[in-house]
Amino acid sequence: MHRETKTAHTGTPPIARTTIEPYVDGVPGPVFYQRYAHAVGVDAERLLGELDGGRALLFPSGMAAVCSLALATLGPGARVAVADGGYYGTIGLLRSELGRWGLEVIGFDQTGTPPQADLVWLEPCANPLLTFPDLDASIAAAHAAGARVAVDNTVLSPLLLRPLEHGADFVMHSATKILAGHHDALLGVVVCTRDEDAERLLEWRGHAGIVAAPDPAWLLIRGLKTLGVRVPRQSATALELARRLTGHPAVQTVRYPGLGPDPVAARYTDAFGPILSFDVADGAAASRVERSLALIENATSLGGTATTLEGRFRWERERVPPGLLRISAGLEHPDDLWADLEQALAAIS
Ligand code: PLP
Repeated sequence: MHRETKTAHTGTPPIARTTIEPYVDGVPGPVFYQRYAHAVGVDAERLLGELDGGRALLFPSGMAAVCSLALATLGPGARVAVADGGYYGTIGLLRSELGRWGLEVIGFDQTGTPPQADLVWLEPCANPLLTFPDLDASIAAAHAAGARVAVDNTVLSPLLLRPLEHGADFVMHSATKILAGHHDALLGVVVCTRDEDAERLLEWRGHAGIVAAPDPAWLLIRGLKTLGVRVPRQSATALELARRLTGHPAVQTVRYPGLGPDPVAARYTDAFGPILSFDVADGAAASRVERSLALIENATSLGGTATTLEGRFRWERERVPPGLLRISAGLEHPDDLWADLEQALAAIS
């Protein structure tokens, strides 16, 4: 069965918020205490596991998922190689916080071979520099060198890419983004290819108490029902905007793997997700575009129903050009989005 069919036909569970469930004949049931499991989370995890082809665990945010994966599976002295140009929060957490606990973190160009490490962290359609790794080659090289591989699949979703099928050990998503899809739930997911890793993470989660609550998990299940229409539509709009931006005189570089398309990315997917980035002359021009928007939200985050745009330099500093603007295409008509972009770009032309 196609994944779109499966998600569309998901039942909606009741929102059971109880933190306890009475024992039956003195025996604790599967959801006896919410820190270990709850009914809505179990449903969401079953669905997410089916989508990515592994065992899924839900966390209260994408960063909680990254943190849990690192702390549960690595130890002091371990080395993590993280794709440059990917989500700045991932390398920030691993380096600045977990570095204090003995993790060694190095960045690398994910379009080449990963360096020696215990864990290699890839991010296809990296946010916001949109690089794309050759997954099969990178995962094989990492495994041959004794590393395990995690893939942040936030941008593409399991509808467009299933990294476990390419040999990855873990998939991670910020489910806050396209999976939940409506700007109303903060969640993260780790999907494991091996049962023993899922058991380790389950044990970690029970100890640490880094647990997603039932309400956002329910919103995720509801959001997933429309994943099959949102992902192709948002990807098509992103491609259209990238094409139109390419010809605009106030726009320098446009980054979107669907342009061309990027021959490596095209081997792994035929649609390229909702985000693109482009450069205007400098930080002042980027700020002017942000403040000239009338329809597109000048907001952070990505993957939701509303199109968002923001200058990333305010967060990422020297990791990105000062004039870099990131767009996440939503569900609006592409002509309306283009009209808004054109009039905002006119302010700097
Ligand atoms: N990974 C990517 C690619 C992201 O874009 C984000 C958030 O922007 C995260 C991870 C972190 O997710 P969250 O904000 O749900 O903690």
